[in-house]
Amino acid sequence: MSHFIFVTGGVMSSLGKGIAASCIGALLQLRGYSVKMKKLDPYINVDPGTMSPYKHGEVFVMDDGCEADLDFGHYERFTGITCSGADSLTTGRIYEQVLAKERRGDYLGSDIQVIPHITTEIKAFILRNTDGVDFTICEIGGTVGDIEGLPYIETLRQLSIEMGKQRTMRIHLTFLPYIKVAEELKTKPTQHSVRQLQSMGVQPDILLCRSECSLPEDVKSKLSMFCNVEKSNVIAALDADNIHLIPTQYHAEGLDRQICRHFGINTNASDEKIEFAMNERWGTLRRAILHPHKITKIAVIGKYTKLKDAYISLTQALSHAGFENDAKIEITWINAEDDPDDMERALSQVAGILVPGGFSSRGTEGKIFAIKYARENRVPFLGICLGLQLAVIEGCRNVAGLTDATSREFLEDGETGSCVIDLMKSWTGADKVEHRDEHSDKGGTMRLGSYPCKIALGTLAFDVYKREEIAERHRHRYEVNVEEYADAIERAGIFISGTSLDGKLPEIIERKGHPFFIATQPHPEFKSRPFSPHPLFCRFIRAALVASKQGW
Ligand code: GLN
Repeated sequence: MSHFIFVTGGVMSSLGKGIAASCIGALLQLRGYSVKMKKLDPYINVDPGTMSPYKHGEVFVMDDGCEADLDFGHYERFTGITCSGADSLTTGRIYEQVLAKERRGDYLGSDIQVIPHITTEIKAFILRNTDGVDFTICEIGGTVGDIEGLPYIETLRQLSIEMGKQRTMRIHLTFLPYIKVAEELKTKPTQHSVRQLQSMGVQPDILLCRSECSLPEDVKSKLSMFCNVEKSNVIAALDADNIHLIPTQYHAEGLDRQICRHFGINTNASDEKIEFAMNERWGTLRRAILHPHKITKIAVIGKYTKLKDAYISLTQALSHAGFENDAKIEITWINAEDDPDDMERALSQVAGILVPGGFSSRGTEGKIFAIKYARENRVPFLGICLGLQLAVIEGCRNVAGLTDATSREFLEDGETGSCVIDLMKSWTGADKVEHRDEHSDKGGTMRLGSYPCKIALGTLAFDVYKREEIAERHRHRYEVNVEEYADAIERAGIFISGTSLDGKLPEIIERKGHPFFIATQPHPEFKSRPFSPHPLFCRFIRAALVASKQGW
């Protein structure tokens, strides 16, 4: 039977609970344990698919097509495991399930209440599919005290009682502000947040304390005393310059040792063996991060350039490719709505241009401008999803002379154009033919999740992937309209090097004769991991290094 670790957050949001939970998972894996990661999100949305990346950061897509919170990206990247939609829960989803049961008559005769009906569903979610897993790490979204979070805290209270201390653990991530004038770390906000948890019947076992400077002994003693937590379980979580340095920090602070002590397991594990494993894995990565021998600048042309979390998987995939190429990646964020002259000036300073995914017509002309620049100036180019669609539009307009080339997505009511990117009304999905039209709902009607793609031999795509069949994750509504515009696309000099297995949907395009110009309909960034960087990103960075004469 699994052990359960619940991770809650106090004082304020954005403390990095997802990264903390991921690091806990990674550290337990180093000790030889299997882990499963789950996230319970108190917001009422059914899934994050319709939530704004401006506010919430990127929507992460899983293999099974579930649109999930970006923390799942951290879980997969830090632990290397593949998560599924069954690991993600929101209040909206629970209410959907409970109300469906009520309509079916499953609760005939009873009032439907938060306790027990909602909490029972939450409990079932926590326990589901955990047999055979050593540790299930459950992150509770939001901050303790949020009104939506109450049923979750109540559920973890109940589970702690039912399963007992030996099987459950509560880790509270909190924040200690540093007051410069007083030169002091303040513990009061943490005391308040722990008291709030205690008032709901939950006693944290470990306090993971985010702070900008190390925790003096007296601060640890004070927190221990006022929060009723053993002093050795008050653990510093110092700000780190790079998230990949955090597992080593937590380990040095004794976090994994204290977790094992709590559960009474692995306490005899040889320190030497663990230190060796730690050094082999995270130590090697640490050295690659701290001492790269090369540097390259990549432009990312986006719409949400102010909130970097909107592109978190993308920036992570770029840094993974940097580790692989012994290079530091400097990202130049270019707002797609910038003045073209400013954009051109910025583009002339970089060694590679990346146009990521996106929705709606806003900023698309700027992205097309950047793609044209990459094509004409032979700058390495990587396009992802919308980036591929715009590369097709750019080629059709500026090379093939189809000046009104566009995407159905960008046309306002009554507007017309040559839709080289269009809605595919029906297509073969994973195991069935799927349909959609302009009236389909906005939530859950995209082509989502992992789909296979076959790659043509002798292409750049084949050279990158070294395989004839691959699978990548999708999240889009529109496709390249080869049914009507195959000629124009060919005249544009665009070669389709990857397609869906039935050959109908273009998945990867490239330009022959250009040093590196490739774009993919799916999002390869979702599958890149620090210990297995994505080959497409690695080759893109290599091409950028070659372009800036630092390559091999
Ligand atoms: N907006 C485009 C579509 O729906 C591209 C989506 C994306 O880039 N993820 O097809």
